[in-house]
Amino acid sequence: MSVSKKTQNRIKPALAAKAKSYLQTMITKNKPITINDVTVKPGEQKIIDLPVAKLYTHTDVSIPLHVICGKKSGPCLFISAAVHGDELNGVEITRRLLKTSSLKSLRGTLIVIPVVNVFGIIQHSRYLPDRRDLNRSFPGSQRGSLAARLAHIFLHEVVQQCDYGIDLHTGAIHRSNLPQIRANLDDPETKSLAEAFLVPVLLNANLRDGSLRQAADEHGVKVLLYEAGEALRFDELSIRAGVRGILSVMRKLSMLPATKKPSKPHDPFIARSSSWERATQSGILRSLVPLGAHVKKGDLLGVISDPSDLFDQPEDEIRSQYNGIIIGKTNIPLVNEGDALFHTARFEDIQEAAASVEAFQTTAENRPNPVFDDQTLI
Ligand SMILES: [Zn+2]
Repeated sequence: MSVSKKTQNRIKPALAAKAKSYLQTMITKNKPITINDVTVKPGEQKIIDLPVAKLYTHTDVSIPLHVICGKKSGPCLFISAAVHGDELNGVEITRRLLKTSSLKSLRGTLIVIPVVNVFGIIQHSRYLPDRRDLNRSFPGSQRGSLAARLAHIFLHEVVQQCDYGIDLHTGAIHRSNLPQIRANLDDPETKSLAEAFLVPVLLNANLRDGSLRQAADEHGVKVLLYEAGEALRFDELSIRAGVRGILSVMRKLSMLPATKKPSKPHDPFIARSSSWERATQSGILRSLVPLGAHVKKGDLLGVISDPSDLFDQPEDEIRSQYNGIIIGKTNIPLVNEGDALFHTARFEDIQEAAASVEAFQTTAENRPNPVFDDQTLI
């Protein structure tokens, strides 16, 4: 049967348009992801339990993974929390992130791991039961220590499937950190993602042997490390800044649509270097500066007194050796000689950096109740 020229001319553009749209769908359609033999298809969201060693009580243990596979293609990003089992701000950050409505329009794949060190968190401990630090045990091995086995499983099943990662940490026990990003800022893409996190302080941190960040880097996965708050505590400012930062990085990666009301950026400043002021003697510390304080060389940061001789003994004054900003500090007044007390970061333009930190803290404090809508989050 022959088709008239007129009909052919009418059908051709329609077919071409259909083919183009099909091709576009094929190009932009996301790929499924398989973890531990469970496949998550585009448009699906699943919780996958990644089994690890049992407890000696015969109790099964697994790492819960929240996997969201967007319909359209985009990068694969992991968000990990509690690699150190006592660092809990990240656990709450991941909970709020998973409640965010804009994840419905996710492009690419998001893997959220609220607790990586499932053994440590049971015991409120940074470490594993074998007393090893998971963040010094990567890449790990199938036949190594408990920490090495956990590192190996996590690296192979999760990290290696991703293009980017954000690892959420807090200060150690009894120590608080001002919200900050640590990353390899010599890499231009990592630097632009670090800036997108919208915290005022960035540290160009060397890769540590055995860390998740180093193992990821060896597989071409770019990782930001977010440090904020204190172990075993929730800190609202750190949590909100963390959620906001992750969403902002996801927008930068085009995994989420641009917001109508972009957050006012606090210009981030890269610390030139940082160092700790340590206790000059054992005793009781009175801390005189808050996190985020702009200090000058010679400023009094705290005073240590000896409880056995309060009348005659001169007190030890801890003075800043540098002009800088306090980005970490101890919260416990009981100190031993040599203990790290105040972490000071130094900047090229200290006035500008101090103004940025102040603006960041003021914005966070002036917000009324926690708002969990990502459009209005601090
Ligand atoms: Zn940590």
